[in-house]
Amino acid sequence: MERSEPPEFEVAIERAISAPEAFGASFDEAPARGELELGAGLEGDPAIAFRRTLGMFATGVTVLTARVSEQVHGMTANAFMSVSLTPPLVLVSIDRRAKMGAFLHEGTRFGVSVLEARQTGLSDRFAGRIAEDVPEPTFEVVRETPLVEGALAHLVARVVRSYWGGDHSLFLGQVEFARYGEGRPLLFHGGRYERLIEDPPVFSLLPEELLEPILALGEPREYVDGQVIMRAGERGAELLLVVAGSVRVERPGRSVKLGPGELIGEIEVLDPGGGRIADITAEGAVRCLAVTRASLLGALEADPRAAIALIEVLAARFRETA
Ligand code: FAD
Repeated sequence: MERSEPPEFEVAIERAISAPEAFGASFDEAPARGELELGAGLEGDPAIAFRRTLGMFATGVTVLTARVSEQVHGMTANAFMSVSLTPPLVLVSIDRRAKMGAFLHEGTRFGVSVLEARQTGLSDRFAGRIAEDVPEPTFEVVRETPLVEGALAHLVARVVRSYWGGDHSLFLGQVEFARYGEGRPLLFHGGRYERLIEDPPVFSLLPEELLEPILALGEPREYVDGQVIMRAGERGAELLLVVAGSVRVERPGRSVKLGPGELIGEIEVLDPGGGRIADITAEGAVRCLAVTRASLLGALEADPRAAIALIEVLAARFRETA
């Protein structure tokens, strides 16, 4: 049989094929009540300590959606997990007090919209929290199932099993539709929203009057379709501004497209010893402006305000990650 799965999944697939079919059988009876022992230093309400312990597991954030008559019902959920590749299965855990649980039964479909980093307002909204200045959510219907527009990834699943999950109910869904776009996910950790900080913008956060004189020192560069602009690991000390066309930035597990006005090599130009962290390739004809490290240092010497602004930007970044 021909396989297209990445090699790290191969062992898991072999085991899944030989696994027993009788899944579900052990869920018929609720497990006996047991005592929850808390580790040293976790005095106080055990329920709170347990919740906080679980909160150490960082997750993404989804909005689950279901069609109810001609209306849409949505609910924020981070208790979502992938279960199986073949067949494609996912699992969601829903509080028994939530309305959403009443809309899901074996055979019904639900949508899963994986929220993008900027969609905290939508998450609050679908969690029943006050979310100010959030535009009305809009939905796209796929397989008669509403999905939140603008999300990073979408799935439509049909409930194939539901299980007792204490004060929650577990719904196993067979996935019928899946797609994802480009962007960064919204994260949830320790009861707070978080986000990934990758390729932190540095120069693009400088005020325009300080950034423009630096970019004005750039030399024009042109690239043809498919030409490699930078390679991961390579030493590089140039800041590139994309002027026309688009480039593809690729690193393991992630690929993004950058267009006019966006900067490349913001960290490397300040830290040339570290090497490039991604492969960057031209998509079609591309024009850039390249500011060498020497030109940059000259510009900072000429106008220390830009140097001070850079230190402030870097300090703010440090605070975000500390
Ligand atoms: P409601 O509370 O009635 O609805 C939820 C909110 O969505 C309401 O404000 C409603 O006005 C709004 N809404 C619904 N449909 C629409 C629509 N069509 N257009 C506009 N607004 C709409 N609970 C779980 O059970 N499991 C989880 O995994 C989980 N994870 C969570 C993760 C996070 C980050 C947060 C913040 C909350 C989480 N919750 C989870 C809590 C859950 O989101 C709330 O308890 C939610 O209010 C339950 O929704 P409900 O189905 O009872 O409906």
